[in-house]
Amino acid sequence: MATALTFRDLPHTRESLATVVMVAEDGVVITDATLFYPQGGGQPGDRGSFITADGRELAVHDTRKGENGTVLHRLDPDHGLVVGQSVTQKLDWPLRHAHMRMHTALHLLSVVVPHGVTGGSIGADRGRLDFDLGDASFDKDELTARLSGLIEADYPVTSEWIAESELDAHPELVKTMSVAPPRGAGDVRMVRIGDIDYQPCGGTHVASTAEIGAVRIASIKNRGARNRRFTLVWASESGGGQ
Ligand SMILES: [Zn+2]
Repeated sequence: MATALTFRDLPHTRESLATVVMVAEDGVVITDATLFYPQGGGQPGDRGSFITADGRELAVHDTRKGENGTVLHRLDPDHGLVVGQSVTQKLDWPLRHAHMRMHTALHLLSVVVPHGVTGGSIGADRGRLDFDLGDASFDKDELTARLSGLIEADYPVTSEWIAESELDAHPELVKTMSVAPPRGAGDVRMVRIGDIDYQPCGGTHVASTAEIGAVRIASIKNRGARNRRFTLVWASESGGGQ
């Protein structure tokens, strides 16, 4: 049975009850629903804990996608959970919120750098996107100023589902050439940022762009003849821009 992906519609929910539906090898636990984002689309799997009714707090070290739409939480092998047991899922919220903020910031980066995305990754401290830039060039301070403007304008971030056939009829909506958009049951999830960005995405996002906080472009580096790697950090981070 597929795991209900509670984090999709409720990305700001930090704690929620769930029921254990499967206990597998190596500390892997599957629940009927989950707040924990499984690694994918460049975003790391969530960490946090499961709290039992008798007050034991069991660390969740990582979250991955399993087969048939399941989500696999990796706990210590001696967790002692059994099928049918209720647990309170509790996210490592500072980590997950940083991922949400950086993930949404990378959407904005794809707005100010309107070229095909060839790769990317999201971390709590930094994120990056690789673009097939061709002959185009960008100034990092100018890009930082444009990103700041989009963040301060506080555009709402929303999601909706459209038919796969609709996306197939509009391939220009897919900006990321290296990651297939999330699909399932004939529909694909679209994420909209005001009237500036609209693309398929299965990740977790902030509610509006001001929630991202201040960012800056730390570096723009060559990654081959046409590819450039843009690295984004929090503006409060000190250091030499590497
Ligand atoms: Zn996204």
